[in-house]
Formats: sequence, structure tokens, C-alpha cells
Amino acid sequence: MRRTFLILLALPMLAPLSHASPGSVRCGKLLDVHSGRMLTDQLIVFDADGVITAVGPASSTYATTGTPIDLSSATCLPGLIDVHTHLTGDPSSTGYQALGISVPREAITGAKNARRTVRAGFTTVRNVGARGYTDVALRDGINDGDVEGPRMLVSGPPLGITGGHCDNNLLPFEFHHIAGGVADGPWAARAKVRETVKYGADLIKICASGGVLSKGDQPGTPQYTLEEMQAIAEEAHKLGRKVAAHAHGTQSIKDAIRAGIDSIEHSSLIDDEGIALAKQHGTYLVFDIYNDDFILQEGAKAGMLPESIEKEKKIGRLQRENFRHAFQSGTKMAFGTDAGVYPHGDNARQFAKMVEWGMKPVDAIQAATVHAADLLGWSAKVGSLEPGRYADVIAVSGDPLADVRVLESVKFVMKGGAVVRSDFSAK
Ligand SMILES: [Zn+2]
Repeated sequence: MRRTFLILLALPMLAPLSHASPGSVRCGKLLDVHSGRMLTDQLIVFDADGVITAVGPASSTYATTGTPIDLSSATCLPGLIDVHTHLTGDPSSTGYQALGISVPREAITGAKNARRTVRAGFTTVRNVGARGYTDVALRDGINDGDVEGPRMLVSGPPLGITGGHCDNNLLPFEFHHIAGGVADGPWAARAKVRETVKYGADLIKICASGGVLSKGDQPGTPQYTLEEMQAIAEEAHKLGRKVAAHAHGTQSIKDAIRAGIDSIEHSSLIDDEGIALAKQHGTYLVFDIYNDDFILQEGAKAGMLPESIEKEKKIGRLQRENFRHAFQSGTKMAFGTDAGVYPHGDNARQFAKMVEWGMKPVDAIQAATVHAADLLGWSAKVGSLEPGRYADVIAVSGDPLADVRVLESVKFVMKGGAVVRSDFSAK
């Protein structure tokens, strides 16, 4: 009986993710994201499940079906990964105008943004916060082939304290409006982890500190206590889920790392002790250092609260300086952008910021491939072009190791052996 139950549970995981047929792609150049070496004239062969069976020089003999897709004038890379997105939200869904947007409407917004995201070359995303489990529905719709979009790991509603960044503080008391993830105290937080997993979350997202786009709090101020975060991390890990903590504040970053949280989102005000703790615990740091430009230039027009713009002015530059310092100190870093704060599909604009603030192009690309896959626990599936991984392939004109901005104009996207877009067809 128990065995039958387990098999039934496993079935959705085994279903094919796309309707690919076996085939191959010939790449003029191919970036080996592990070594950072650029290989020439490579063939990627995949099977009917969209899984890579061989990668190597095109001159070798492989058992292939049909003529390879010709990308001999292009550079291939593995599909990119953004570990911090909000596909069901747009920049205009912040502040008071967000109160007029229904949960079903947000699901439709998610379908639009999933398409934009995968077409921009991001074939996998980790979605960290959505109302009403719209992210679970979107993930399932994509996996069933109803909606075009990236592979998704989703968190459902983010957990947070009453009145915190992950609550909704826009309305007065008489409306009794509370966000779906609010839970105070270790046991209530544990119960909320269980509830979130029950309704389909792949990971748990929490708000450890205050934030920018929320009303009445400060990014540097601690919200969840160490004790609450320890309970959340223990409960989530017991249920096989990782935890991502929104944390701008110096103290909250350290408390979250000490509590065993798996990734620190934003990481804005991290200090040397926090960096040392992250290295000691192997905690990933995710710095969303592109969207500062968008918030300061477009945020007011998009309807963000005046206090949000003021908060961003205070921490935006500090976050970028701390990104450089943390990278030079050797912490683990994954590529996450907070897409939704800025328009979806522009995710790759962050690469140039990461290079501007201390990384080499190859470091930034590794953060969005092998390192992001490691944080997700999906290294065996995505993040590199090797046998056994999904045939998630993107291609660009030019050399991303010389000019990382070519990733802002991805011209070919394949997900699981199925072509999502191809602008090289004129050849
Ligand atoms: Zn976010």
C-alpha cells in the first residue's frame, strides 16, 4: 500500500517536460561552463525525452536522427537560470494599484511573463514569492505543455512576520488584510511551511528583514528572529525543501545563515562577518544588482511608493559595493535578478552590471548556469551541456566571454530538445 502511494506521488516528476523528438544541434562555438573554455565546431545530440546523449566535435561520428540544426555561425551556451523571479508580477503591480489586481489576473500575467522569460534565454527560473499559488499553477501549466515558459521551481506565498516585508501593509485595520504567508513564532512558521508544501511549493521563501517595495518597514531592520528561522529551516529541510531568505539587513543576513537558510536574497548590507559566515556555511548569496537602475529611473512612473524610491537610493550603491567585496572574498554566488521589479525578459541586463562590479564575463555566466543549478539542487538536470542534462540550449552571435552583453540578444532557444525560438533560420 505504502509502495503504491509513493509511486503515484513520483509519477508527475517522471512525465516528459516537452514533446521533443530526437535530434542534434551543430554549434560553431560552445562554451564549456565548467572550465570556461570555448570549444569549436561541436555537436549536441539529444533523445526523444529531450535529454542530451552526446556532446563533442562535429567531425566525430554520432548516432543522430536527421540533419542537425545549423548554428555553425553562432555560440552555444546552456540555457540560463535566474534564481530570483516573480513571473506573476509586473513593475506596475506594486503600491496601491496592486490592490486592484485579482489572483486569477496574476496567473494570466504569469503566462505572459513565462513566455518572455524563456524567449530571452532563461530556460529555468526559481520563482520566489507569488500570491494565491499562481506560481504553482504556472509551473504545472508549463510542465503540461499548456503554456510556453521556463522550467520553474516555485515557493508559493513567501513567509513573513505580521507587518513585515512579506505581509501587505497598505490598508487600515478595518480591512483585516493579511498576506497568505504571514506566520509569527516558531510553531506557526513550521505550520506555514507544511501548508506551503501541501499546496505545491518546491522551496520555501521567507522575509528575514524589511524591504524596499513594502510600506512602513526598513530594509536594514530584522524581522524573523533566529529562533523562527531555525524552525523554518529545520522543517523545510525535513520535507526536502530548500529555503531562500530575503535579507537586506546586516543582522538578518547573519541570523539567516546561522539558522541554516540555503540562500540569501539581495544580501545588500552584508558585512565581513556575514561574508565569513556565508563561506563557512556554504550559503549562496544572490545579489540583484541590475534593478536598482530601473527602480530609480522608472519606479515612480510604475507606481512604486515614494518611500520605496527613497529606500532604494540608500541601499542600491551599497549593495553593488558589497557584491564586489563578497565576490572578491570567494563566497558562492548565483544569478538572481528580482525580475518583476523590472520588466520580464530583461534578465540578462544584469550580466553587464556583474562585470562592471568586479566579475569576469565567465564568472557571471557560471553564476547563471552551473552555480545556479547547484543552488537549485538541479545540477544533474540543467546548467551545463553534458550527457544526462536536458537539451536546454541557447545561442548568440558573437563571443559572450569578450562582450557579455551579447546575452541580452539571445537568438536561439531550445528547451528539452524543442525549439522555442530561432532567429538564425535565414541562414
Ligand atoms: Zn523578490
